[in-house]
Amino acid sequence: MISKLIDGKKISSSIHELLEKQISEIKSKYFKAPKLVVILVGSNPASISYVKAKEKACKKAGIICHVERLEENVTEKDLIKYINDLNYDIETDGMIVQLPLPKKLDEEKIIQSISPQKDVDGLTNENLGLLASGQPRFVPATPLGVQKLLDEIGIKTEGKNIVIIGRSKLVGIPLALLLSAKSDLGNATVTICHSKSNNIDSLTLKADIVIVATGFPSTLTKKMVKENSIVIDVGVNRIEDSSKKNGYRLIGDSDFEEIIDIVSKITPVPGGVGPMTIAMLLSNVTKAFIINNDIKNL
Ligand code: NAP
Repeated sequence: MISKLIDGKKISSSIHELLEKQISEIKSKYFKAPKLVVILVGSNPASISYVKAKEKACKKAGIICHVERLEENVTEKDLIKYINDLNYDIETDGMIVQLPLPKKLDEEKIIQSISPQKDVDGLTNENLGLLASGQPRFVPATPLGVQKLLDEIGIKTEGKNIVIIGRSKLVGIPLALLLSAKSDLGNATVTICHSKSNNIDSLTLKADIVIVATGFPSTLTKKMVKENSIVIDVGVNRIEDSSKKNGYRLIGDSDFEEIIDIVSKITPVPGGVGPMTIAMLLSNVTKAFIINNDIKNL
């Protein structure tokens, strides 16, 4: 039987292989490697583990990754000054601020202080605006990873009815822009739902592809999906589990165990969208190196 699981781990490993090749070519031609700076404020356990995963992946690919760990009580002024220094640092190709930030910091103001040329998370107004106008530069890694997953498993989005549940700047909005764009990997009819949407099930039941990114388990239940549709579960939720060594396990935003019987394809959590996000971040850092060094052909 053909597996219904969309194996993000496997698909991302072939992207990593291509990136490793590209980075080794960069190193032999330019005698330097792309460099990413990750700014981690405070000690949120999920953020620490995401940053570790990014650091490990960069190291494997040959990207220099510096993690700047700042105290929870860092001031907005000091954080923006640090970002500004990096904006002018010729050694730094890309930077990301690990989100969420402690509540007292103005997340939006801090993100907008990153130079759009180094904003490899694609969250500045300039980069989101470029995406909206059909000239993408840096696109947020998770939406890019979802688009890549669909492409790699041979799903043509053109003309498909896609429902996205979640309208964040990190996931839902850029994903809607990507999938509805006039492009080979776009051309879909996209509907965005959010916490104020009514009767979401009436929309998802008509969808060929449902993408759920809310941060709440069981947002998408089996009654909400149509036979043979495709479900992409972006959610990552930590659930207490005393049988696990670390005391928790990860689940998505959909009722995976029940939905898998109905759909034709579904991403697991973990092992679906997560590994793609990391691969696409590394791809954005490599792209930043190429743009910032004005490299025409590798
Ligand atoms: P977010 O900023 O909190 O946005 C959540 C969105 O979901 C909001 O638009 C919210 O609506 C909507 N929403 C919440 N409850 C809803 C409901 N019951 N019905 C419909 N819409 C609802 O979260 P995010 O940053 O987009 O992340 C979403 C999830 O993806 C989280 O679990 C996060 O951990 C995960 N994530 C995973 C990856 C990965 O690599 N796998 C990367 C990024 C994020 P309103 O706008 O009305 O509030």
